Amino acid sequence: MADSEGRKLSDEQIRRYSRQLLLDEVGIAGQQRLLQSRVLVVGIGGLGSPAAIYLAAAGVGTIGVVDADRVETWNLHRQILHFDTDEGRRKTRSAGEHLRALNPDIRVEEHDTYLSPANAADIIRPYHVVVNGCDNFPTRYLLNDACVLAHKPLVDAGVLQFHGQASTFKPGHGCLRCLFPVPPPPEAAPSCSAVGVLGALPGQMGTLQATETLKILLGAGTTLTNRFLLYDGLNCTYHSFDWDRDPNCPVCADNPKITDVTSVNYEKLGGAPMPTDNDPLTPPHEFYARRREWEVNPEDVRGWIEQNQCSLVDVRTAEERHASRIPESLALPLAQLRQKYAQGQAVRQLSETGEPVVLYCQVGERSAAAAYLLRRLGYTEAHSLRGGMLGWSNVGGDLIKGDDSS
Ligand SMILES: [Zn+2]
Repeated sequence: MADSEGRKLSDEQIRRYSRQLLLDEVGIAGQQRLLQSRVLVVGIGGLGSPAAIYLAAAGVGTIGVVDADRVETWNLHRQILHFDTDEGRRKTRSAGEHLRALNPDIRVEEHDTYLSPANAADIIRPYHVVVNGCDNFPTRYLLNDACVLAHKPLVDAGVLQFHGQASTFKPGHGCLRCLFPVPPPPEAAPSCSAVGVLGALPGQMGTLQATETLKILLGAGTTLTNRFLLYDGLNCTYHSFDWDRDPNCPVCADNPKITDVTSVNYEKLGGAPMPTDNDPLTPPHEFYARRREWEVNPEDVRGWIEQNQCSLVDVRTAEERHASRIPESLALPLAQLRQKYAQGQAVRQLSETGEPVVLYCQVGERSAAAAYLLRRLGYTEAHSLRGGMLGWSNVGGDLIKGDDSS
């Protein structure tokens, strides 16, 4: 079976892709184009997993994956490219293995690193289309700028709780900065780790990103270029709004202010800090291997409290603490602890007489990271409340609600 230019698909490829070869928009020529295409997926999490899975299954010949995080159990409900047995492994390694197992016809290029102003241009250069699967605003703006400067289409999306949004930025048609000149303030854009997300929601948005990418590669249909899609999963409503390129955009205008991403301080844009490869705060593999030793069950913590045998420390934000907290707990937000740790400052006394310190957050994720940092600061009795406030409520633990005194 050959196209008009005589290019052929193998029998195996015809069998594998037969259901999409039937589409007028694909056919032999379209499939050839997909097989010769190179797509970069930045962030192999809730969005990047379904996007990469569908791109691999469709036969996009080369898929680059960028991520420096490791697989964590609490992310598996949405990061469906990783399995339970992958816990603690590099996400890029897990993604590469599973994508190749799904479709041996494709190549996966693993970039086991965080995207940074120093490496963004080099990583993006060899790809035809870029998919944003990252969840922090500094990286999202960096990726936007790097794609504009490299003239690469970027398929963008974001999710939180039950809400999804998406837009496609094609060279010459405006960019993320035209749509949102600055990121929302942190209080207006909390992370999924703080307020949660239904796993299927990024599944839908990531799948939509795969569809957008395939349409760009095939030159088919109408993409979300100059349109912004809002999806409310709780009420199942979709709305899309038209938007225009900003002629004064700092990066995509005819005479842009930004001509090189290495000259931009993305941290200053706001939002969560930008993860970096050499971040001393990023837990090593040992953290994941030993984390369970540092966790303590809510039932045990209740017993300790009754015996006056521990002190409790809340590592969440002031807003979360205002909503509800465990009685008699100190406040030490993780961001503050990270800052102190990075600057080599002492952390104030967290327990009176050296009794265990039990750290807690919403679900036990941030408190595990805090326990890791405190242990490195010499608090050998730093523990993390397993399941956080959820685990605590589950065993009927006492809570104070709507009181901001601490
Ligand atoms: Zn722009």
